[in-house]
Amino acid sequence: MAMMDTPRMVVGVPRENRLGETRVALTPTALPQLTKAGFEVVIEAGAGATAGFPDEAFIARGARIGTRDDAFAADVLVQVNVMDGDPSNPDVSRLRAGQIVVGAVAPFARPALVSAVAATGATLFALELVPRTTRAQSMDILSSQAAVAGYQAVLIAATELPKMFPLLTTAAGTVAPARVFIIGAGVAGLGAIATARRLGANVEAYDVRPAAREEVASLGARFVELPLETGQEEGSGGYATDLSEETIRKQQELMAKTVAASDVIITTAQVQGSTAPVIVTTEMIRGMAAGSVIIDLAAEQGGNCEPTVAGETVDVDGVRVFGVVNLPGSVPVHASQLFGKNVANFVGLMAVDGRLDPEVDDNVIRESVVAKGGDVVNNRVREALGLEPLPEPQAPEPVAAATPAAEEVAT
Ligand code: NAD
Repeated sequence: MAMMDTPRMVVGVPRENRLGETRVALTPTALPQLTKAGFEVVIEAGAGATAGFPDEAFIARGARIGTRDDAFAADVLVQVNVMDGDPSNPDVSRLRAGQIVVGAVAPFARPALVSAVAATGATLFALELVPRTTRAQSMDILSSQAAVAGYQAVLIAATELPKMFPLLTTAAGTVAPARVFIIGAGVAGLGAIATARRLGANVEAYDVRPAAREEVASLGARFVELPLETGQEEGSGGYATDLSEETIRKQQELMAKTVAASDVIITTAQVQGSTAPVIVTTEMIRGMAAGSVIIDLAAEQGGNCEPTVAGETVDVDGVRVFGVVNLPGSVPVHASQLFGKNVANFVGLMAVDGRLDPEVDDNVIRESVVAKGGDVVNNRVREALGLEPLPEPQAPEPVAAATPAAEEVAT
């Protein structure tokens, strides 16, 4: 059949409806990649406004502006927060069988939502489940947004701390650099280390993964050695695994001295899919000087600090613990630009010979799909819903030249 007879595949970008969300799921810079792959892009009027991208900027890159219904009529719907809230979100009833929905889903925290989307017959992809491999890095929204969050966390700490970050030698005396301690040296942690170093702070960092030692040192920070048997060698898909209660208690004990000596602590420790480990106790915080600042990036996962409350600032004897949420939303231009590129790369995987193929044989697609054909297809989500597990997918056939470094763990 001639290409001109084939209707164009349409990507729709509705306006985000989570309270306080400023980002948009696609930006004008990512559009040409999709149009070249044969997609038409429909943006709900005003969808990019809070992120700094007016409708005209999308039109200039080949998009069409439409209503919310126009955006929802698309073959592929892309959102920063997919179907925000619970299954009663009226957007769920706009979905139809065969439609593809892509974005951040929080599928393990919202199994009922995944189930409701599955019931519409739509195919749902949770970008949080994109594997942490070198090849998939360009689609990894957790990494792109965490890098932004690490940077922003340091800026918040720098403005809230009643001290300066850099060493300053003046005729009136010398000011010592601030001491910044980063706990968890993954994507957000390394971003925080780099930013704190650029501001001239004296930076220390700790992570349970021994491989983090070199990364920390390469950014000019000192790795805090805690004589602990954590068993966190590389090989768990780029993520740390849970520590025993006893190891965590020992970690807290050994870390207390570094915590007490720090002006700023930024906590970013996470074990994917688990609640955040509590690493800094209220008692440890009481050992810090009044005026010190803690930024807890893991607040939404329960927090790495005992007193953390997501979205709030808690005062512990003059030390303020910031339970920050959605820091990428405070720099929406770049956060959206990175998110949009991740989305375009992901959607591009499904464009095969000018057609849309959500069944394309690709491990990134396989691992991130959570609803398909009217059913919930992720076993962890099924377990949360009390459903029988599905047989694990068959071992993938190697795809020639398409997955050269597929299982290589990202650094
Ligand atoms: P990551 O997986 O890349 O890094 C987490 C690091 O924590 C890993 O290196 C891991 O080894 C380490 N870790 C795990 N358990 C530990 C322990 N007990 N002690 C020390 N280190 C430990 O994750 P990331 O992408 O950098 O995200 C970090 C956190 O930041 C997550 O909780 C994420 O949800 C959060 N985050 C928050 C925002 C926000 O706006 N608040 C935005 C993005 C990410």
